[in-house]
Amino acid sequence: MLNITILGSTGSIGKQTLDIIRNKKDIFKVSALTSNSNIELLCEQVKEFKPELTVIADKNKYKDLKNFLAGEETTILCGEEGLIRAATYEETDLVISAIVGIAGLLPTYAAIKKGKKLALANKETLVTAGNIIMKEAVEKNVKIIPVDSEHSAIFQCIEKEENEISKIILTASGGPFREKTIDELTRVTIADALKHPNWSMGKKITIDSATMMNKGLEVIEAKWLFDMPRERIEVCIHPQCIIHSMVEYIDGSLIAQLGYTDMILPIQSAMTYPNRKKTDFEKLKLSEIKELSFYEPDFKKFTCLGLAYDALEYGDSTCVVLNAANEIAVKSFLQGLIKFNDIYKLIYSIMEKHNIVAVKTIEDVLLIDKWGREKGEDLLKRGVF
Ligand code: NAD
Ligand code: MG
Repeated sequence: MLNITILGSTGSIGKQTLDIIRNKKDIFKVSALTSNSNIELLCEQVKEFKPELTVIADKNKYKDLKNFLAGEETTILCGEEGLIRAATYEETDLVISAIVGIAGLLPTYAAIKKGKKLALANKETLVTAGNIIMKEAVEKNVKIIPVDSEHSAIFQCIEKEENEISKIILTASGGPFREKTIDELTRVTIADALKHPNWSMGKKITIDSATMMNKGLEVIEAKWLFDMPRERIEVCIHPQCIIHSMVEYIDGSLIAQLGYTDMILPIQSAMTYPNRKKTDFEKLKLSEIKELSFYEPDFKKFTCLGLAYDALEYGDSTCVVLNAANEIAVKSFLQGLIKFNDIYKLIYSIMEKHNIVAVKTIEDVLLIDKWGREKGEDLLKRGVF
Protein backbone atom coordinates (compact mmCIF):
# COMPACT_ATOMS: atom_id res chain seq x y z
CA MET A 1 0.00 0.00 0.00
CA LEU A 2 1.42 3.39 -1.00
CA ASN A 3 0.25 6.35 1.11
CA ILE A 4 -0.11 9.50 -0.94
CA THR A 5 -0.21 13.23 -0.27
CA ILE A 6 -1.66 15.30 -3.09
CA LEU A 7 -0.61 18.94 -2.95
CA GLY A 8 -3.29 20.66 -5.06
CA SER A 9 -5.89 17.86 -5.10
CA THR A 10 -8.66 20.11 -6.47
CA GLY A 11 -6.75 21.04 -9.64
CA SER A 12 -6.59 19.37 -13.01
CA ILE A 13 -3.62 17.11 -12.11
CA GLY A 14 -4.92 16.55 -8.57
CA LYS A 15 -8.34 15.36 -9.75
CA GLN A 16 -6.80 13.01 -12.30
CA THR A 17 -4.52 11.60 -9.59
CA LEU A 18 -7.61 10.83 -7.51
CA ASP A 19 -9.22 9.16 -10.55
CA ILE A 20 -6.25 6.81 -10.68
CA ILE A 21 -6.42 6.12 -6.94
CA ARG A 22 -10.19 5.46 -7.17
CA ASN A 23 -9.46 2.66 -9.64
CA LYS A 24 -6.49 1.24 -7.76
CA LYS A 25 -7.61 1.22 -4.14
CA ASP A 26 -5.68 -2.00 -3.57
CA ILE A 27 -2.32 -0.25 -4.04
CA PHE A 28 -2.92 3.44 -3.24
CA LYS A 29 -4.27 5.18 -0.16
CA VAL A 30 -4.69 8.94 0.34
CA SER A 31 -3.02 10.28 3.46
CA ALA A 32 -3.33 14.04 2.88
CA LEU A 33 -5.16 16.39 0.51
CA THR A 34 -4.66 20.12 0.02
CA SER A 35 -6.42 22.89 -1.87
CA ASN A 36 -6.01 26.65 -2.13
CA SER A 37 -9.64 27.72 -1.60
CA ASN A 38 -12.01 25.26 -3.25
CA ILE A 39 -13.63 23.93 -0.06
CA GLU A 40 -16.66 22.39 -1.80
CA LEU A 41 -14.60 20.04 -3.94
CA LEU A 42 -12.09 19.42 -1.16
CA CYS A 43 -14.93 18.29 1.14
CA GLU A 44 -16.26 15.87 -1.47
CA GLN A 45 -12.76 14.46 -1.87
CA VAL A 46 -12.28 14.10 1.89
CA LYS A 47 -15.60 12.28 2.25
CA GLU A 48 -14.67 9.87 -0.51
CA PHE A 49 -10.97 9.27 0.14
CA LYS A 50 -10.80 9.69 3.95
CA PRO A 51 -7.35 11.33 4.29
CA GLU A 52 -5.89 11.66 7.77
CA LEU A 53 -4.93 15.24 7.04
CA THR A 54 -6.82 17.95 5.11
CA VAL A 55 -5.32 21.35 4.35
CA ILE A 56 -6.79 24.56 3.01
CA ALA A 57 -4.12 27.09 2.05
CA ASP A 58 -6.44 30.08 2.27
CA LYS A 59 -6.76 30.79 6.00
CA ASN A 60 -10.06 32.66 5.47
CA LYS A 61 -11.69 29.39 4.44
CA TYR A 62 -10.51 27.41 7.47
CA LYS A 63 -13.61 27.94 9.63
CA ASP A 64 -16.02 27.05 6.81
CA LEU A 65 -14.01 23.95 6.03
CA LYS A 66 -14.11 22.88 9.68
CA ASN A 67 -17.89 23.28 9.70
CA PHE A 68 -18.33 21.41 6.43
CA LEU A 69 -16.20 18.54 7.69
CA ALA A 70 -17.68 18.29 11.18
CA GLY A 71 -17.98 14.58 11.92
CA GLU A 72 -15.23 13.52 9.51
CA GLU A 73 -12.18 11.92 11.07
CA THR A 74 -9.52 14.12 9.53
CA THR A 75 -7.12 16.66 11.00
CA ILE A 76 -7.76 20.05 9.40
CA LEU A 77 -4.98 22.59 8.98
CA CYS A 78 -4.52 25.77 6.99
CA GLY A 79 -1.93 28.12 5.50
CA GLU A 80 1.63 27.44 4.48
CA GLU A 81 2.37 25.51 7.69
CA GLY A 82 -0.49 23.19 6.81
CA LEU A 83 0.82 22.63 3.26
CA ILE A 84 4.26 21.82 4.64
CA ARG A 85 2.76 19.43 7.16
CA ALA A 86 0.95 17.62 4.33
CA ALA A 87 4.16 17.49 2.27
CA THR A 88 6.13 15.99 5.15
CA TYR A 89 3.39 13.89 6.76
CA GLU A 90 4.87 10.89 8.57
CA GLU A 91 2.54 8.32 6.98
CA THR A 92 3.10 9.59 3.43
CA ASP A 93 5.29 7.54 1.07
CA LEU A 94 4.74 9.57 -2.11
CA VAL A 95 4.01 13.27 -2.58
CA ILE A 96 2.26 14.44 -5.75
CA SER A 97 3.31 18.06 -6.22
CA ALA A 98 0.42 19.56 -8.23
CA ILE A 99 -0.01 23.10 -6.93
CA VAL A 100 0.20 25.73 -9.67
CA GLY A 101 2.86 28.45 -9.61
CA ILE A 102 5.64 29.26 -7.19
CA ALA A 103 3.16 28.57 -4.35
CA GLY A 104 4.23 24.94 -4.86
CA LEU A 105 7.89 25.62 -4.14
CA LEU A 106 8.06 25.56 -0.33
CA PRO A 107 5.93 22.45 0.22
CA THR A 108 7.77 20.61 -2.55
CA TYR A 109 11.13 21.58 -1.06
CA ALA A 110 9.92 20.47 2.37
CA ALA A 111 8.92 17.06 0.97
CA ILE A 112 12.39 16.56 -0.50
CA LYS A 113 14.10 17.67 2.72
CA LYS A 114 12.04 15.06 4.53
CA GLY A 115 13.22 12.44 2.02
CA LYS A 116 9.77 11.80 0.52
CA LYS A 117 9.49 10.19 -2.89
CA LEU A 118 8.22 12.91 -5.23
CA ALA A 119 6.06 12.92 -8.36
CA LEU A 120 6.55 16.43 -9.70
CA ALA A 121 3.93 18.21 -11.80
CA ASN A 122 4.58 21.74 -10.47
CA LYS A 123 7.09 22.91 -13.05
CA GLU A 124 7.60 26.29 -11.36
CA THR A 125 9.59 24.52 -8.60
CA LEU A 126 12.46 23.59 -10.93
CA VAL A 127 12.15 26.76 -13.02
CA THR A 128 12.74 28.95 -9.98
CA ALA A 129 14.95 26.78 -7.78
CA GLY A 130 16.28 23.94 -9.94
CA ASN A 131 19.81 24.14 -8.59
CA ILE A 132 18.78 24.06 -4.93
CA ILE A 133 16.11 21.41 -5.43
CA MET A 134 18.32 19.00 -7.39
CA LYS A 135 21.16 19.34 -4.85
CA GLU A 136 18.80 18.65 -1.97
CA ALA A 137 17.33 15.66 -3.80
CA VAL A 138 20.80 14.15 -4.29
CA GLU A 139 21.66 14.78 -0.65
CA LYS A 140 18.45 13.20 0.63
CA ASN A 141 18.55 10.42 -1.97
CA VAL A 142 15.13 11.46 -3.28
CA LYS A 143 14.08 10.34 -6.72
CA ILE A 144 12.15 13.10 -8.50
CA ILE A 145 9.80 11.48 -10.97
CA PRO A 146 8.47 13.92 -13.55
CA VAL A 147 4.72 14.12 -14.25
CA ASP A 148 4.83 16.76 -16.99
CA SER A 149 4.13 14.63 -20.08
CA GLU A 150 7.26 15.70 -21.99
CA HIS A 151 9.59 15.02 -19.08
CA SER A 152 7.79 11.81 -18.25
CA ALA A 153 8.40 10.77 -21.87
CA ILE A 154 12.10 11.57 -21.67
CA PHE A 155 12.37 9.88 -18.28
CA GLN A 156 10.80 6.75 -19.77
CA CYS A 157 13.14 6.90 -22.78
CA ILE A 158 16.30 7.12 -20.70
CA GLU A 159 15.52 5.43 -17.44
CA LYS A 160 17.44 2.25 -18.20
CA GLU A 161 20.07 3.69 -20.54
CA GLU A 162 23.58 4.45 -19.50
CA ASN A 163 24.39 5.61 -23.00
CA GLU A 164 25.39 9.12 -23.85
CA ILE A 165 22.61 11.43 -24.93
CA SER A 166 23.34 14.02 -27.59
CA LYS A 167 20.11 15.96 -27.16
CA ILE A 168 16.61 16.09 -25.77
CA ILE A 169 13.73 17.05 -28.04
CA LEU A 170 10.64 18.43 -26.30
CA THR A 171 7.57 18.24 -28.48
CA ALA A 172 5.00 21.04 -28.38
CA SER A 173 1.50 21.23 -29.79
CA GLY A 174 2.00 24.88 -30.72
CA GLY A 175 -1.15 25.73 -28.75
CA PRO A 176 -4.34 27.34 -30.05
CA PHE A 177 -2.47 30.04 -32.00
CA ARG A 178 -0.05 27.88 -33.94
CA GLU A 179 -1.50 28.95 -37.28
CA LYS A 180 -2.28 32.59 -36.44
CA THR A 181 -0.21 35.40 -37.92
CA ILE A 182 1.70 37.84 -35.72
CA ASP A 183 -0.92 40.46 -36.65
CA GLU A 184 -3.84 38.19 -35.70
CA LEU A 185 -2.24 37.59 -32.29
CA THR A 186 -2.88 41.24 -31.43
CA ARG A 187 -6.63 40.57 -31.49
CA VAL A 188 -7.05 37.24 -29.67
CA THR A 189 -9.33 37.09 -26.61
CA ILE A 190 -9.14 35.34 -23.25
CA ALA A 191 -11.65 32.76 -24.46
CA ASP A 192 -9.55 32.08 -27.59
CA ALA A 193 -6.43 31.59 -25.46
CA LEU A 194 -8.23 29.19 -23.10
CA LYS A 195 -9.26 26.90 -25.99
CA HIS A 196 -6.35 24.47 -26.14
CA PRO A 197 -6.63 22.14 -29.16
CA ASN A 198 -5.20 19.05 -27.47
CA TRP A 199 -4.98 19.25 -23.69
CA SER A 200 -7.50 20.07 -20.96
CA MET A 201 -5.59 21.70 -18.08
CA GLY A 202 -5.71 24.45 -15.44
CA LYS A 203 -6.06 28.05 -16.66
CA LYS A 204 -2.51 29.21 -15.98
CA ILE A 205 -0.80 26.43 -17.90
CA THR A 206 -3.37 26.79 -20.70
CA ILE A 207 -2.41 30.45 -21.18
CA ASP A 208 1.26 29.44 -20.91
CA SER A 209 0.60 27.02 -23.75
CA ALA A 210 -0.96 29.75 -25.89
CA THR A 211 2.12 31.99 -25.47
CA MET A 212 4.41 28.93 -25.59
CA MET A 213 5.95 30.10 -22.31
CA ASN A 214 4.89 26.64 -21.14
CA LYS A 215 7.46 25.10 -23.47
CA GLY A 216 10.02 27.63 -22.28
CA LEU A 217 9.38 26.65 -18.64
CA GLU A 218 9.70 23.02 -19.72
CA VAL A 219 13.08 23.69 -21.33
CA ILE A 220 14.29 25.03 -17.97
CA GLU A 221 12.66 22.12 -16.14
CA ALA A 222 14.42 19.68 -18.51
CA LYS A 223 17.80 21.30 -17.90
CA TRP A 224 17.54 20.47 -14.20
CA LEU A 225 15.84 17.10 -14.41
CA PHE A 226 18.19 15.68 -17.03
CA ASP A 227 21.31 17.77 -16.43
CA MET A 228 21.38 19.09 -20.01
CA PRO A 229 22.78 22.42 -21.20
CA ARG A 230 20.33 24.63 -23.10
CA GLU A 231 22.16 24.03 -26.41
CA ARG A 232 21.14 20.39 -26.20
CA ILE A 233 17.46 20.95 -25.46
CA GLU A 234 15.44 21.42 -28.61
CA VAL A 235 11.77 22.22 -29.12
CA CYS A 236 9.86 20.66 -31.99
CA ILE A 237 6.29 21.56 -32.94
CA HIS A 238 4.20 18.41 -33.31
CA PRO A 239 0.50 19.36 -33.60
CA GLN A 240 -0.91 15.85 -33.09
CA CYS A 241 0.78 15.59 -29.65
CA ILE A 242 1.19 11.84 -30.01
CA ILE A 243 4.95 11.79 -29.48
CA HIS A 244 5.34 13.26 -26.01
CA SER A 245 9.09 13.89 -26.37
CA MET A 246 12.28 12.27 -27.63
CA VAL A 247 15.88 11.57 -26.74
CA GLU A 248 18.67 11.46 -29.30
CA TYR A 249 21.74 9.36 -28.49
CA ILE A 250 25.26 10.03 -29.76
CA ASP A 251 24.94 7.34 -32.43
CA GLY A 252 21.97 9.24 -33.88
CA SER A 253 19.33 6.85 -32.57
CA LEU A 254 16.15 8.68 -31.64
CA ILE A 255 13.93 7.18 -28.90
CA ALA A 256 10.39 8.50 -28.42
CA GLN A 257 7.46 7.84 -26.11
CA LEU A 258 3.99 7.88 -27.67
CA GLY A 259 0.47 8.04 -26.32
CA TYR A 260 -2.82 9.88 -26.56
CA THR A 261 -3.05 13.35 -25.03
CA ASP A 262 -4.17 12.28 -21.60
CA MET A 263 -2.29 13.15 -18.40
CA ILE A 264 -3.54 9.97 -16.72
CA LEU A 265 -0.70 7.98 -18.27
CA PRO A 266 2.21 10.21 -17.17
CA ILE A 267 0.63 10.64 -13.71
CA GLN A 268 0.13 6.92 -13.23
CA SER A 269 3.54 6.10 -14.58
CA ALA A 270 5.09 8.44 -11.98
CA MET A 271 2.94 6.90 -9.23
CA THR A 272 3.84 3.30 -10.03
CA TYR A 273 7.50 3.93 -10.90
CA PRO A 274 9.70 1.86 -11.28
CA ASN A 275 6.89 -0.52 -12.26
CA ARG A 276 4.09 -0.26 -14.76
CA LYS A 277 0.51 -1.21 -13.99
CA LYS A 278 -2.24 -2.30 -16.34
CA THR A 279 -4.70 0.38 -17.46
CA ASP A 280 -8.07 -0.10 -19.09
CA PHE A 281 -8.23 3.08 -21.13
CA GLU A 282 -8.00 3.18 -24.88
CA LYS A 283 -4.67 2.12 -26.35
CA LEU A 284 -3.02 4.16 -29.07
CA LYS A 285 -4.07 3.15 -32.61
CA LEU A 286 -1.48 4.58 -34.98
CA SER A 287 -3.43 3.51 -38.06
CA GLU A 288 -6.21 5.85 -36.93
CA ILE A 289 -3.79 8.73 -36.37
CA LYS A 290 -2.29 8.13 -39.83
CA GLU A 291 0.04 11.09 -39.92
CA LEU A 292 2.46 12.76 -37.58
CA SER A 293 3.98 16.10 -38.54
CA PHE A 294 6.83 18.20 -37.18
CA TYR A 295 7.94 21.82 -37.56
CA GLU A 296 10.50 24.17 -36.12
CA PRO A 297 9.06 26.66 -33.62
CA ASP A 298 8.57 30.24 -34.80
CA PHE A 299 10.56 32.30 -32.29
CA LYS A 300 9.42 35.57 -33.93
CA LYS A 301 5.79 34.76 -33.22
CA PHE A 302 6.23 32.95 -29.90
CA THR A 303 8.59 35.43 -28.28
CA CYS A 304 8.04 34.02 -24.77
CA LEU A 305 9.83 30.81 -25.78
CA GLY A 306 12.93 32.84 -26.62
CA LEU A 307 12.70 34.66 -23.28
CA ALA A 308 12.93 31.35 -21.43
CA TYR A 309 16.02 30.30 -23.41
CA ASP A 310 17.50 33.75 -22.63
CA ALA A 311 16.75 33.33 -18.92
CA LEU A 312 18.66 30.03 -18.92
CA GLU A 313 21.61 31.79 -20.54
CA TYR A 314 21.62 34.58 -17.94
CA GLY A 315 21.29 32.26 -14.98
CA ASP A 316 19.22 31.26 -12.00
CA SER A 317 18.00 34.66 -10.75
CA THR A 318 16.75 35.54 -14.24
CA CYS A 319 14.75 32.31 -14.30
CA VAL A 320 13.10 33.31 -11.01
CA VAL A 321 12.21 36.71 -12.48
CA LEU A 322 10.96 35.13 -15.70
CA ASN A 323 8.60 32.95 -13.67
CA ALA A 324 7.38 35.75 -11.39
CA ALA A 325 6.85 38.07 -14.34
CA ASN A 326 4.98 35.37 -16.21
CA GLU A 327 2.69 34.63 -13.25
CA ILE A 328 1.84 38.33 -12.93
CA ALA A 329 1.33 38.75 -16.68
CA VAL A 330 -0.90 35.67 -17.02
CA LYS A 331 -2.98 36.71 -14.02
CA SER A 332 -3.42 40.21 -15.45
CA PHE A 333 -4.36 38.81 -18.86
CA LEU A 334 -6.95 36.49 -17.29
CA GLN A 335 -8.37 39.48 -15.38
CA GLY A 336 -8.73 41.37 -18.66
CA LEU A 337 -6.21 44.03 -17.59
CA ILE A 338 -3.78 43.48 -20.45
CA LYS A 339 -3.92 42.10 -24.00
CA PHE A 340 -2.42 38.82 -25.15
CA ASN A 341 0.63 40.48 -26.72
CA ASP A 342 1.22 42.49 -23.55
CA ILE A 343 2.10 39.26 -21.73
CA TYR A 344 5.44 39.14 -23.53
CA LYS A 345 5.98 42.90 -23.26
CA LEU A 346 5.39 42.95 -19.52
CA ILE A 347 7.65 39.95 -18.88
CA TYR A 348 10.39 41.46 -21.06
CA SER A 349 10.16 44.84 -19.27
CA ILE A 350 10.46 43.21 -15.85
CA MET A 351 13.38 41.00 -16.93
CA GLU A 352 15.16 44.00 -18.44
CA LYS A 353 15.15 45.79 -15.08
CA HIS A 354 16.56 42.84 -13.16
CA ASN A 355 20.18 42.87 -12.00
CA ILE A 356 21.51 39.33 -11.99
CA VAL A 357 22.35 38.03 -8.50
CA ALA A 358 23.48 34.71 -7.04
CA VAL A 359 20.76 32.31 -5.87
CA LYS A 360 21.96 30.12 -3.03
CA THR A 361 18.93 29.48 -0.85
CA ILE A 362 15.17 29.16 -1.10
CA GLU A 363 14.95 32.51 0.74
CA ASP A 364 16.97 34.08 -2.11
CA VAL A 365 14.47 32.62 -4.58
CA LEU A 366 11.51 34.02 -2.64
CA LEU A 367 13.10 37.49 -2.39
CA ILE A 368 13.82 37.67 -6.12
CA ASP A 369 10.31 36.37 -6.83
CA LYS A 370 8.89 39.15 -4.65
CA TRP A 371 10.98 41.75 -6.47
CA GLY A 372 9.69 40.46 -9.83
CA ARG A 373 6.07 40.61 -8.72
CA GLU A 374 6.37 44.08 -7.21
CA LYS A 375 8.12 45.39 -10.31
CA GLY A 376 5.34 43.87 -12.39
CA GLU A 377 2.59 45.46 -10.29
CA ASP A 378 4.40 48.79 -10.49
CA LEU A 379 4.80 48.70 -14.29
CA LEU A 380 1.18 47.62 -14.67
CA LYS A 381 -0.06 50.44 -12.47
CA ARG A 382 1.92 53.01 -14.41
CA GLY A 383 1.09 51.36 -17.73
CA VAL A 384 4.72 51.46 -18.86
CA PHE A 385 5.91 48.22 -20.40
P1 NAD B 1 -4.92 23.92 -11.55
O1 NAD B 1 -5.04 25.39 -11.57
O2 NAD B 1 -5.97 23.11 -12.21
O3 NAD B 1 -4.83 23.42 -10.02
C1 NAD B 1 -3.95 23.99 -9.12
C2 NAD B 1 -4.08 23.38 -7.73
O4 NAD B 1 -3.22 24.12 -6.85
C3 NAD B 1 -5.49 23.50 -7.13
O5 NAD B 1 -5.74 22.37 -6.32
C4 NAD B 1 -5.40 24.75 -6.25
O6 NAD B 1 -6.29 24.71 -5.16
C5 NAD B 1 -3.96 24.70 -5.78
N1 NAD B 1 -3.41 26.05 -5.53
C6 NAD B 1 -3.45 27.12 -6.37
N2 NAD B 1 -2.86 28.18 -5.80
C7 NAD B 1 -2.43 27.79 -4.59
C8 NAD B 1 -1.77 28.44 -3.51
N3 NAD B 1 -1.44 29.74 -3.57
N4 NAD B 1 -1.50 27.72 -2.39
C9 NAD B 1 -1.84 26.42 -2.30
N5 NAD B 1 -2.47 25.75 -3.29
C10 NAD B 1 -2.77 26.42 -4.41
O7 NAD B 1 -3.48 23.57 -12.15
P2 NAD B 1 -3.03 22.27 -12.96
O8 NAD B 1 -3.34 22.44 -14.39
O9 NAD B 1 -3.47 21.03 -12.25
O10 NAD B 1 -1.45 22.40 -12.84
C11 NAD B 1 -0.74 22.12 -11.65
C12 NAD B 1 0.75 22.12 -11.95
O11 NAD B 1 1.05 21.04 -12.83
C13 NAD B 1 1.23 23.39 -12.67
O12 NAD B 1 2.50 23.72 -12.23
C14 NAD B 1 1.28 22.96 -14.13
O13 NAD B 1 2.23 23.69 -14.88
C15 NAD B 1 1.67 21.51 -14.02
N6 NAD B 1 1.23 20.68 -15.13
C16 NAD B 1 -0.10 20.55 -15.38
C17 NAD B 1 -0.53 19.78 -16.46
C18 NAD B 1 -2.01 19.58 -16.73
O14 NAD B 1 -2.35 18.80 -17.61
N7 NAD B 1 -2.90 20.22 -16.04
C19 NAD B 1 0.41 19.15 -17.28
C20 NAD B 1 1.76 19.31 -16.99
C21 NAD B 1 2.16 20.07 -15.91
MG1 MG C 1 3.99 19.56 -20.56
